[in-house]
Amino acid sequence: MRVRVAINGFGTIGKRVADAVAKQPDMELVGVTKTRPSFEATRAAEKGYKLYVAGSSGAAEFEKAGLPVAGTLDDLLHQVDVVVDAAPEKVGKENRKLYDAAGVRAIFQGGEKADVAEASFNALGNYATCVGKRTLRVVSCNTTGLARAASVISPAWGIDHWEATLVRRASDPAETKRGPINGILPTFLLPSHHGPDVRTIFPSLSIATTAVVVPTTLMHVHVNHVRLQRAPANAAEVLTAFRDTPRFHVFAPWEHVDGTPQVMEYARDRGIGFNDMMENVLWEEGVRVDEKDLYFFQAIHQESIVVPENVDAIRAMFQLAKDARDSIAKTDQAIGLPAP
Ligand code: NAD
Repeated sequence: MRVRVAINGFGTIGKRVADAVAKQPDMELVGVTKTRPSFEATRAAEKGYKLYVAGSSGAAEFEKAGLPVAGTLDDLLHQVDVVVDAAPEKVGKENRKLYDAAGVRAIFQGGEKADVAEASFNALGNYATCVGKRTLRVVSCNTTGLARAASVISPAWGIDHWEATLVRRASDPAETKRGPINGILPTFLLPSHHGPDVRTIFPSLSIATTAVVVPTTLMHVHVNHVRLQRAPANAAEVLTAFRDTPRFHVFAPWEHVDGTPQVMEYARDRGIGFNDMMENVLWEEGVRVDEKDLYFFQAIHQESIVVPENVDAIRAMFQLAKDARDSIAKTDQAIGLPAP
């Protein structure tokens, strides 16, 4: 029996999760919601996804635009086993009341506070503790990147303390109302909220984060310094551990990937998802080991890194896989992500 899934909020994250769910053999995408007609609503209809109306607009607006509507959000909630909430941040908390009223399980995104759900989720980080839960929150793009890296580093060498500076993109490519377009904005919450958010996955991890926002739309970049408990032999040992883990992509120097522009050009060449880069991206030259000190850069494609995590969160909830690695392998094969 396939798990029946609804997507509430069909924007940057929602449309990607919808495509990923539609490709999974053990899941059925029953429908997606839009609050108003738009080119994204047209694309959903063209892909054969049933459209339901969320929010206060009526079906008439959609029908005027030539878009067939199958019902309201409430109609959709009564046909599914789980809803993936991908509405704008803080709206998920309000939506939770609708999901509770319909008696449906729910997965929320990282724009919500941790208490929106029973547990925060990252597939490599804490899949086992999320098995069977009725509500989960997939942590944000930056937290997902840090949690994945922690799940490689911590078991291999132990983490004494981790300092990370997050160089954050100003907006997503399609956003027109955010900035800066010229300038670097320090985040004056010191340390930033990302460290505590990583501890929703690894409660005892010693990590402190700081952040700046820069005028780019492509990706975030993390500048990491980890004081390890045991020294690796060399950087090659660390690179092998990352390469051997799903959802990491390491560029070699001969590939001539200087930074995020070429990473996203590679993603466009590769053509997975919406030309996405769902893996943590590292560079061979960007990993250095000095005794117990590990330094590394990683780039995070904010629009897509959480997409496979949402699919795994559904599997954890409904116990559709024997463990995290089994779920990750199924998800990634269906999406087309390479196995390590
Ligand atoms: P988005 O604005 O691109 O998409 C949100 C969609 O929800 C829009 O289509 C909007 O019309 C719709 N919507 C608005 N109100 C709604 C309602 N009441 N019910 C249903 N749908 C409604 O936002 P996004 O970037 O996809 O972000 C969604 C969530 O994912 C947020 O919690 C965000 O913090 C998180 N997230 C975003 C990114 C990112 O970089 N974009 C990365 C990771 C996590």
